[in-house]
Amino acid sequence: MGIETDRNHHELPAHEVLVLVETDAHVGLDAGEARDRLRRFGHNVLPPVHRRGPLLRFLLQFHNPLIYILLVAAAATLALGETVDAGVILGVVLINAVIGYVQESRAEAALDALVAMTRTAATVVRDGTTRRISSDDVVPGDLVMLEAGDKVPADLRLIEVEDLEVDESALTGESVAARKEQTVLPTGTVLGDRANMAYSSTLVSRGRGRGVAVATGAQTEIGTIHRLVGTATDVETPLTRKIAQFSKLLTVAILALAAVTFAIGFARGEPAGEMLTAAVALAVGAIPEGLPPVVTITLAIGVSRMARRHAIVRKLPAVETLGGTTVICTDKTGTLTRNEMTVRELWAGGEAFQVTGDGYSPGGRLERDGRRVDVATVPAVRDCLVAGVACNDTRIDDRDGGVEVVGDPTEAALLVSGAHADVDRESVAEALPRLDSLPFESETRYMATLHEPDGSGPPVVYIKGATEMIVGLADAQLDADGAQIDLDAGRILAEANALAGRALRVLAFARAELPKEAGLGHDHLREAHVVFLGLQAMADPPRSEAVSAVAACRSAGIGVKMVTGDHVATARAIADEFGLVESAGDGQTAGAVMDGNDLAACGDDDLPDAAERASVFARVSPEQKLRLVRALQSRGHVVAMTGDGVNDAPALRQADIGIAMGRSGTEVAKEASDMVLTDDNFATIEAAAEEGRGVFDNLTKFIVWALPTSMGEGLVILVAIIAGSTLPILPVQVLWVNMTTAVALGIALAFEPRESDVMLRPPRDPSMPLLTPTLVWRIALVSFLMVLGAFGLFHLELANGASDAAARTVAVNVFVMIELTYLFNCRSLERSIVSVGVFSNRWVIAGSLAMIVLQVLFTYVPAMNTLFHTAPINVGAWARIAAVAVGVFAVVGTEKLLRRARARVADGR
Ligand code: ADP
Ligand code: MG
Repeated sequence: MGIETDRNHHELPAHEVLVLVETDAHVGLDAGEARDRLRRFGHNVLPPVHRRGPLLRFLLQFHNPLIYILLVAAAATLALGETVDAGVILGVVLINAVIGYVQESRAEAALDALVAMTRTAATVVRDGTTRRISSDDVVPGDLVMLEAGDKVPADLRLIEVEDLEVDESALTGESVAARKEQTVLPTGTVLGDRANMAYSSTLVSRGRGRGVAVATGAQTEIGTIHRLVGTATDVETPLTRKIAQFSKLLTVAILALAAVTFAIGFARGEPAGEMLTAAVALAVGAIPEGLPPVVTITLAIGVSRMARRHAIVRKLPAVETLGGTTVICTDKTGTLTRNEMTVRELWAGGEAFQVTGDGYSPGGRLERDGRRVDVATVPAVRDCLVAGVACNDTRIDDRDGGVEVVGDPTEAALLVSGAHADVDRESVAEALPRLDSLPFESETRYMATLHEPDGSGPPVVYIKGATEMIVGLADAQLDADGAQIDLDAGRILAEANALAGRALRVLAFARAELPKEAGLGHDHLREAHVVFLGLQAMADPPRSEAVSAVAACRSAGIGVKMVTGDHVATARAIADEFGLVESAGDGQTAGAVMDGNDLAACGDDDLPDAAERASVFARVSPEQKLRLVRALQSRGHVVAMTGDGVNDAPALRQADIGIAMGRSGTEVAKEASDMVLTDDNFATIEAAAEEGRGVFDNLTKFIVWALPTSMGEGLVILVAIIAGSTLPILPVQVLWVNMTTAVALGIALAFEPRESDVMLRPPRDPSMPLLTPTLVWRIALVSFLMVLGAFGLFHLELANGASDAAARTVAVNVFVMIELTYLFNCRSLERSIVSVGVFSNRWVIAGSLAMIVLQVLFTYVPAMNTLFHTAPINVGAWARIAAVAVGVFAVVGTEKLLRRARARVADGR
């Protein structure tokens, strides 16, 4: 059989397409067939991006100014007849390329792993039941369900649409959402106009639909584009770009300096060959070639550390930005709270009831004043519970060892409260078959379902939602006996307010009758006769780890603001448990809490002030989230904002760090975000901010460690030329130092654990340069000490009668050993190594030992002596080298100590 996956499905009626792909419009594929097709068509994934091949990538390692210099140097040395030197230089070039290649591959692998973690799910019908599967497993012929927020998993011919709109910008570049229809289109209809198709990777922005997969994986339209263009993982961030620019500038400056050095020496009448060697040594030594790759690696390590803590970074710059975050705007439900809802109180027919029971387990009951109530005797209560179960899209499945909520925990709580009074899902579904529904949206804040009672009475609508909305629709209410009386809106709102004040989430319920011919629509409800039934109030305990995370943000100088669609009083009460609202003595919380109306009343000029002051925003709409982000940014804040819905996408995009919920969030929100939380937990945001700060710290540490060597090596040669002395260090030796120390010592700093006080400092000011004056000073100091040490010991050796080779070996060892001891200084930019813990980074210890072994080989192995022009040195020389290295360590240690003491005095501690 040949399942047709040609590209003309839009020209055919839906039933013909179904025949073509051999599937049933209601039952879908059966499991066995789906398995067969998966084998035949392969997984629904795009083929790996056509990256540069390994060979090309390796060759590109040579495309680098430093390598050019080295190649020129090799040619020059060869011309001077120094074949061994030329060979060493070429060898180094090769090793350098291999290291660069390996590091680049590692960073890319880390980022690829992230792409795999953000795979999406799809809803399909198989064997007649709806199930969630990985979108990788969708096969041609699968019946796919779409709803607002989904990412379309494959190319679909739509067979049913309900107000369906799809954002096709990923495919067509068109930013206005395309309306979908179930029609047959003429031949030649262009991609962007095919209203009866939904294409893979586009996003459902509205409504619902059902379609049959006609193409998957590489066969999809996006697959074709993907093959044509190819996209590579972007490993650039503002910081890496800045550092790359800086290194480029430095390279040019150093080359100029090398040329000047050459000219000076030449003018003095030194032999040209020797001066060329000096110029090359200077250039090779001073150019900080290790900088850009280490920065990328450090960022990649940060990304995998964050992933281990449940934060998936989608865009690499986020790693950096996170460390500088000054305000986090967070959801309440599910992020700060556990999203484990339990109905505790019910108010119907003018009376209050308590609901007992534990979580989702049965066995709770309805009580009034501590005594069990028979629900059958209170019609208003019964109706309120029926509404909660009927107007509900959620399922609670039994799982081995517990239960699983498929859907919304808010709705799950209503199923449980209903079940306590024998109003269960099955009997309601049987007695009240559903005809239609209006889904819950954060704009309208209610949901409605249309039912046809089995006695075929007039259709009835059940509505549930925010109290204000329901009261706004209603024109009557039920009394205790179930009779309709006039609506007392004031009383209902006061009851809801009181419940919300006890940190409960309140939902109101209503019932309406619609004329048979009228469909379900928001306008119909506004005109219908709507009867208010009651309130159900549910508890949702705070996540304890989120409580401490909020406190941690506080001490880190990061503002936390709760932004929620929930009731003001609920929001305030929960915020109180997190210490987010400071009351102004008299119990008033003026200015600290704003609701949607306050925000709407606030002009663009006043909003930044108000937004900075308030810490709780309730009944906020998605557009208001966007305004809030902008207002805070106008005050120079670096804003992190969470979101889960389709309409949150603009705010997520605008925020410096858009954070989407991995579990409850829509694909649309994830696409718009910089980071996804796999556990939807606020504590994870805090953890990511902490990691972000750590990454930034480690980058700074590496730079502070690496620059003095470059400067020192460059300077020592410059000084030698100016002083007319022999070179204390040769080009091949400079190469040796740079290569070995960068690999053995430098990389270890990328693995440096976070310092214990990262979350006790204020956020980094984004406008501040990476290197503060203090650090610039320290770099200068260490460079100077290196020059002094190397130059001094070099001449001391010569004065003691050592050969040039032995004296140079001492100079090289001075550089390496200072780098080694200084590495320990750099493990914290402020604190002493004792408080950091000498052994707390095993990479540093292992690297140091490896480095010492390498230097022993470098000094004593005859082959190395030949290759690098070195010579064995005696114990006395080693003692002097060690003294210098330890001396530098002590000087930097003292410098840090003095700065700490001064900071303490300044703080008045
Ligand atoms: P948040 O996620 O910030 O808590 P939501 O936008 O989910 O806020 O909810 C806002 C309000 O909408 C709630 O206070 C509740 O009254 C109502 N609501 C929430 N979920 C539902 C739902 N599934 N059906 C009907 N109404 C709901
Ligand atoms: Mg919600």
